[in-house]
Amino acid sequence: MFEPLPKLPNDPILGLSIAFRDDPNPDKVDLGVGVYRDASGVTPVMAAVREAEIQLQINETTKAYTPPAGYPGANEAVQALAFGEEHPARQQQRIATVQTPGGCGALRLAAEVIQRAKHGARVWVSTPTWANHVPLLGSAGLELKEYPYYDFERHTLDFDAMMAALNQVPAGDLVLLHASCHNPCGADLSPEQWRRVTELAAERGFVPLIDMAYQGFGEGLEEDAYGPRLMAEQLPEVILAVSFSKNFGLYRERAGALAIVGADAAQTEAIQSQLLSVARGLYSMPPAHGSALVAGIWQSEELRGRWRDELAQMRERIQALRQALVESLGRAVPGRDFGFIARERGMFSFLGLSEAEVARMKADYSIYMTDNSRINVAGLNLDKIDYLSAAIAEVIKGRV
Ligand code: PMP
Repeated sequence: MFEPLPKLPNDPILGLSIAFRDDPNPDKVDLGVGVYRDASGVTPVMAAVREAEIQLQINETTKAYTPPAGYPGANEAVQALAFGEEHPARQQQRIATVQTPGGCGALRLAAEVIQRAKHGARVWVSTPTWANHVPLLGSAGLELKEYPYYDFERHTLDFDAMMAALNQVPAGDLVLLHASCHNPCGADLSPEQWRRVTELAAERGFVPLIDMAYQGFGEGLEEDAYGPRLMAEQLPEVILAVSFSKNFGLYRERAGALAIVGADAAQTEAIQSQLLSVARGLYSMPPAHGSALVAGIWQSEELRGRWRDELAQMRERIQALRQALVESLGRAVPGRDFGFIARERGMFSFLGLSEAEVARMKADYSIYMTDNSRINVAGLNLDKIDYLSAAIAEVIKGRV
């Protein structure tokens, strides 16, 4: 039966991690895989998470199944975090919410429920977007189309081109937006731009599908949720996929949630029942451990405060690395402006290197990044920055 199936090549990012692991160069730098690292190069268990884990271990009395929508109390935390305590859509009972296996699970569940509502629906994704959006949405049978987003020449969001394209999107199509910390380009919509996209969605009738995987990694917890909150206030329908992998450091626990804002309470109840039914056919019910930690942290004022502080430290570290890299590149490559790296947010930016230059970075300097020259800024360290800048200066010599 499996004869027709050939062996597939390694996933490019996974392949990069393996090559990095096997590289004996002591100066090697891994800017490929998208995880946060602290100054000692570790992806830490946050102290608030550790504490919540200890409390859970003491207090947990059963490993019996959770209710189908997930760990009790976690969906309130999801809603309060994503939409804020006082959001009108919450007060109007307009937010269907289920926990999912990570943000990926949320996106896949969203795709399946969209498919039920409108078979073969079209989803417009930014150019570029996170590579995994394509299989997560596409394998459910949705049709993917692209709208222009990042101007690779000018290293900036091309908002006019984006708006011109979205202005052609028919009613009932979906538009995928990154809430903050755009992966892979780091260029985000400003509050004013979110307002304009929201107005356009209201006017044209397209439905936002928002991916929020980095809340708190950009400008702050509230600021990074500006777009979803505004859209949920102004539009009848909004889909929000939430991941806690980054902002709670819960990567392997697979903690996430899908929140769908419906037109009214009755429609939302119907959506909630559909979500549970789709999830039942996919994985039955979500993992509980990560959600239990999120709920535990959210419900304890002390842990919540500690978590916010730790998250702020991570955010500030990324911004400090961005700033240091711009300054270092300014010294190493005086003819070129890398200021965009400090203006972008979250873990990723494009350096603007060609594939051949990326290959040289790897072969000659053991600096690893994806072929499109996306770097994970959080994978850097202050003591590696000058080494990185010198290598960039060397590989782009002659074209400055
Ligand atoms: N969306 C984006 C843009 C991401 O970068 C990620 C994580 N890499 C996710 C969603 C989901 O991640 P997870 O399934 O690990 O929660």
